[in-house]
Amino acid sequence: MAILRVNTVNKSFRGLRALDDVNLEVEEGTVHAIIGPNGAGKSTLLNCFVGRLTPDTGSVVFGGQSLVGLSPHEINQAGVARVFQTPEIFGDLSLIENVMIPTFARRDGAFRVNAWSRADAQAEVREKAEHVLAEMGLADQRDAVAATLSRGDKRRLELAMCLVQDPRLLLLDEPTAGMSRADTNRTIELLQRIGERGITKIIIEHDMHVVFSLADRISVMAQGSVIAEGEPDAIKNDPRVREAYLGG
Ligand code: ADP
Ligand code: MG
Repeated sequence: MAILRVNTVNKSFRGLRALDDVNLEVEEGTVHAIIGPNGAGKSTLLNCFVGRLTPDTGSVVFGGQSLVGLSPHEINQAGVARVFQTPEIFGDLSLIENVMIPTFARRDGAFRVNAWSRADAQAEVREKAEHVLAEMGLADQRDAVAATLSRGDKRRLELAMCLVQDPRLLLLDEPTAGMSRADTNRTIELLQRIGERGITKIIIEHDMHVVFSLADRISVMAQGSVIAEGEPDAIKNDPRVREAYLGG
């Protein structure tokens, strides 16, 4: 079953057609990669999924619910979490605090009020945050100030902040950008482990090693359109893709 259906989405910026009749279906529980050269429209498309941008026309339906017109917060509440191209963390807070915050944000108002005042609610949130930090290999640094982390650890912290929300759909915009090979491989392993939880993932990625290690299906974008879609082996050998992206 498709968890996300994107139907003829268009988005222009002052005459520039950033998205041109984009169609996309993402099956529940899979890793769907979106690749394509710089400026192809990948981030714009992701921004339309999370409510940072509103498509000019077309529909985005997640688990049967239309996302067009919803606020980023409402979309997050519906079960969509996102790792940004540049990590968005609270630099002056500790790691554990960073991971506790999204849990509070996801819960209802009554829980939030209780959680700040009641020790047992705090403990529940803290325990979950600690568990996710450990999963990301960050348990030793739980009381460190987030700003002091390495680039790779900041990205893993951001991933922890997403996972703690138990999303149904996780969007990753270039999760290994700027990472060393060792850090990249570690991130691939972590993402594979998250895969075991059955969270659907959409990943935008330039590093073909990452794409072919993780993706079940690949959509290729160029100049605002999806020019090819299929399983990794088919995409690897598609002449249109080689021409548009892999450089012939
Ligand atoms: P990608 O992520 O594939 O590199 P983007 O989605 O960032 O591509 O950009 C697609 C096109 O839309 C580019 O030509 C880019 O310059 C343009 N674009 C993206 N965001 C904006 C914006 N907020 N205002 C104007 N143009 C934009
Ligand atoms: Mg981008």
